[in-house]
Amino acid sequence: MTLNADLHCHSTVSDGTLAPQDVAARARAHGVQLWALTDHDEMAGQRAARDAALALGMDYLAGCEISVSFAGETVHIVGLGVDIDDAALAAGLARTRGGREQRAREMSDALAAVGIDGAYEGALRHVGNPDLISRTHFARFLVESGVCADVPEVFRRFLTEGRPGYVPHRWATLADAVRWIVQAGGMAVVAHPGRYKFTPNEEYALFSEFKAHGGRGVEVVTGSHTIPEYARYADTAREFDLYASRGSDFHSPDEGHTELGSLPPLPAGLTPVWEPLAHRVLRA
Ligand code: AMP
Ligand code: MN
Ligand code: MN
Ligand code: MN
Repeated sequence: MTLNADLHCHSTVSDGTLAPQDVAARARAHGVQLWALTDHDEMAGQRAARDAALALGMDYLAGCEISVSFAGETVHIVGLGVDIDDAALAAGLARTRGGREQRAREMSDALAAVGIDGAYEGALRHVGNPDLISRTHFARFLVESGVCADVPEVFRRFLTEGRPGYVPHRWATLADAVRWIVQAGGMAVVAHPGRYKFTPNEEYALFSEFKAHGGRGVEVVTGSHTIPEYARYADTAREFDLYASRGSDFHSPDEGHTELGSLPPLPAGLTPVWEPLAHRVLRA
C-alpha cells in the first residue's frame, strides 16, 4: 500500500469553507496519512492545521499556494515543507495578497455594470479572512443570490478572462515565489499544470524557468487533472527531472470538489515529493 498523501487543499483562511482543524479531521476520516494545508497566499492556518494533524495521528508538511503571473496567465506554485516563521516568505505572501481588496472592488463594479449589484458586500459575507477575498467568494455570492446554479457556472459566465466580472491582476513573479519557498526550507511545486491555457512552447518555458529558479516538483495527480493528464504530467516530471506531488485541491464538501485523500496513487516510477522532504515532515 502506498502512502496516502494529500498535499493540496484549502480552509477558511483562503477560499475553503471548513476551518483548518475541520479540514484535518476530514482528511483523517478519509485515510490521509501525510497532509498539507495549502491556503492561497497565506499561512495563518498553519499552526491550527499542524496541531490538529498531529493530534489526529497524521504526519504534516507546512504549505501554501502562491499566485504567480507568468506569460499572461495566473500560475499557482505550491510550497511544501516551508518554515512557517520565515519572515521573507511571510512578507512575500503579504505582498502577493495585497492587491486583492482593490481587485475585489473593481470586480464588484464590473458586475454592477451588467446588473449584478452588491457583489462586494455579498462576497465579503462568505470571506473567512478579510485579507483574502477571492473569486471563489464572489462565485458563492452569485450562487446564493440565484444568478447561477453552481460555482463552475459563475466562473464560466462571469469570472474568467473575457467575461464581464473578470479583472486582470498582477501577482508575484515566478522567480520570487520559488525563491521565497526555497529560502524558507521548502520545495516549490507547479500546481495543476493541466489547468493553464498555455501553448506547448509556453508550458516548456514555464517548466524550464521554474527549474532554473530552483523549483523541484510538479503536481501529477490532482483533482484538477483528467486521467490522461496524470500520464501527461508524469512524462513532464520525467522530462524535467521533477519530484511528483499528489493533492485533491479540496475546498468544500458542498461544491463537487475532489474528496480529500481519494485520488489514485502516483504513477509508478516517479519519485514522490515527500521523499526528499522527509526531513521537513512533522511526525505524529
Ligand atoms: P483568485 O485567487 O481570487 O483568482 O481565485 C482563484 C480560485 O478560484 C481558485 O483557487 C479556485 O478555487 C477557483 N476557481 C478558478 N477557476 C475556477 C473554475 N473554473 N471553477 C471553479 N472554481 C474555480
Ligand atoms: Mn482556490
Ligand atoms: Mn490553484
Ligand atoms: Mn488550490
